[in-house]
Amino acid sequence: MSVITLQSPVTVLYGVSESRAKLLEKLDIFTVDDLVRHYPRGYENRGMVKNVCELSPGEVSSCILEISSPVKSTRISSKAGRAMTVQKVTAHDETGSVALTFFNQEFLKNTLVTGRKFRFYGMVSGSFLNPQMTSPAYEPYYPGAELDDLVPVYPLTAGITCKMLSKLVKQALEYYKNIESLPKDIISEYGLMGLYDALSNIHFPDDAEKMKDARRRLAFEELLEFQLKLRALKNRNATGRAYKFSVPDMNEFYGSLEYELTGAQKATIDSILYDMTRCGEGVPCDLSRFTQPMRRLVQGDVGSGKTIVAAAAVYLCCKNGAQASLMVPTEILAEQHYASLLPLMEQHRIATALLTGSTKAAEKKKILEALRDGKIDFIIGTHALIEDKVVFANPGLAITDEQHRFGVRQRDKLSGKTALAEDGKSVLPHMLVMSATPIPRTLAMILYGDLDISIIDELPPGRQKVDTFAVGESMRERIYKFTEKLVGEGRQAYIVCPLAQETETSDEAYENGLKSAAEYCEQLKREVFPDLSLDFVHGKMKPAEKDKIMKKFSEGNTDILVSTTVIEVGVNVPNAALMVVENAERFGLSQLHQLRGRVGRGSHKSYCVLMSPVIKGQQAKGDSPSEKRFRIMCENSSGFKIAEYDLELRGPGDFFGRRQHGELEFKIADLAADMKLVEDTKKLADIITKNKQKEKSK
Ligand code: ADP
Ligand code: MG
Repeated sequence: MSVITLQSPVTVLYGVSESRAKLLEKLDIFTVDDLVRHYPRGYENRGMVKNVCELSPGEVSSCILEISSPVKSTRISSKAGRAMTVQKVTAHDETGSVALTFFNQEFLKNTLVTGRKFRFYGMVSGSFLNPQMTSPAYEPYYPGAELDDLVPVYPLTAGITCKMLSKLVKQALEYYKNIESLPKDIISEYGLMGLYDALSNIHFPDDAEKMKDARRRLAFEELLEFQLKLRALKNRNATGRAYKFSVPDMNEFYGSLEYELTGAQKATIDSILYDMTRCGEGVPCDLSRFTQPMRRLVQGDVGSGKTIVAAAAVYLCCKNGAQASLMVPTEILAEQHYASLLPLMEQHRIATALLTGSTKAAEKKKILEALRDGKIDFIIGTHALIEDKVVFANPGLAITDEQHRFGVRQRDKLSGKTALAEDGKSVLPHMLVMSATPIPRTLAMILYGDLDISIIDELPPGRQKVDTFAVGESMRERIYKFTEKLVGEGRQAYIVCPLAQETETSDEAYENGLKSAAEYCEQLKREVFPDLSLDFVHGKMKPAEKDKIMKKFSEGNTDILVSTTVIEVGVNVPNAALMVVENAERFGLSQLHQLRGRVGRGSHKSYCVLMSPVIKGQQAKGDSPSEKRFRIMCENSSGFKIAEYDLELRGPGDFFGRRQHGELEFKIADLAADMKLVEDTKKLADIITKNKQKEKSK
């Protein structure tokens, strides 16, 4: 028999067949360790037992009841015509009785036997006098039964239940009894719980206090790992090497642009040129061929002109005879970049290609060959660029746009595509990442500790401010009229409505989200805009489907785009002049700013309307946090300014929490609640890293 380790596949556990393992994979659970690190998203407080006379409909409650009479099972056919069975049974305590209903669980007649007691937990329905529960959880209750007060609730997928996961986790925890992942002195210095205790208590807490300690220990570990990973990245950078380019005639490039660069764009380009050439004003060029690779993050508000900054870096790289790549998160964005950069690149004889998931096989084959032969200088594409098949002859620069949509791993996969220099050793490309998510500098330093940071905090001149209004329900009719008028003038509009309910499994979210956006869109079509063309898009849609709808909109074939979640990042539809955000109170400041950034991209006067039931009159005059946010939006247009307010108002946790941050998906750490842990682990990571380096150099 082979030894079971934490890295063994889950199939080593009792009760995990190949088919169940396939289901678990959907939850990103592959190994025993993945399973144990699949933390509950909350707990059912089943320990708070109520008497029947205390139950009130609409509340989730726990009660201990004795079965009053045998289970009655009847056969019915469901609406869809499918045959099903219903089990009804009554149970009571000293204060009253509850009618219980289950579906398709005929075996219950052997379980819920008259006279036996169970702890039931679930939503109470019916009335105060005749309480009911439908499909409650039930656990046998008898003297000495050890029922957990806090029962874990897990993120699930179809075919996997919380009960199943609990059982498996209990089994898997056995392997952790003698394991500790942190050094003893760190555990004692920071007063942390041991690993086994922490894992046991995060899944099956003895009490709320223990659960908190468990969470703290696991968050500490997660943050420390994160910080160490960042430093390792930075170090790898220090040891790798990239081409040291020479400075071409940049004036030729600047001269080919239709506009003057802003000061912030120029300064950013200068930093990039310096990173890649190691020479600048007053710094003599050293002509040895290699230097350490650039690892630079460019943060710039939407519309601040990051693309052209990237193009300058591409120009430098390609004029030195090396290849550049630009990776973006969606096909439509790739196509837009390709269309806007191609003329410029052609002018400078830089051979440019586009590679996405929908590039035809024959075309793709040609591109891959040309790339390998060095015949393509610059390639723009989606995730397709990080496939192993994509091989560069001589990669000099790897750019990731809208990097918050990618994980560290994807970003590094692109910049990890190396070349062999003449000396037979590998050369890394320089790395440039661009993000339209303004983050205050202090936080950026923690989060992007492995990168140098440039900030473009200036918009090109002549940009029109997007007029922003926050309005209440009473303005709805007028907003619709206004929308109609703008569309009548040839413009396009976005209407964003947040998901009414966030559900757990992604399938459900998909269906619900689809339904709400689709329904709302249908309703608008029917009742409000019968003569306009409307479409809807939803965050959980398949990328290809989403791209299709976005493309139709960007080509001007849809008047109004209804969307449930944040509209595709970075998409440029200059003709869109109105952004209406429904239930704007559900969005954070930075999100609202991102949404607003979708309009005001062309020469047309643009508007953003924040609608919210929180606003009682016509305008946001109240003191509620939402109304304060709305006023900040109406009064400010700089993303960095808004990010600072956001941080101030909500604290760092929410600030990041609601945003999609590939690299910030912590399983348990919460950057708001755990800011102290963030700082502690940052210091600790610095010490550990330094000690390691000292040891190495000995
Ligand atoms: P983002 O930073 O959001 O990626 P883009 O690079 O897409 O912004 O630029 C937005 C628009 O601004 C583009 O149409 C671009 O041509 C234009 N632009 C960029 N820089 C300048 C500038 N210095 N002056 C005028 N227009 C500019
Ligand atoms: Mg952009």
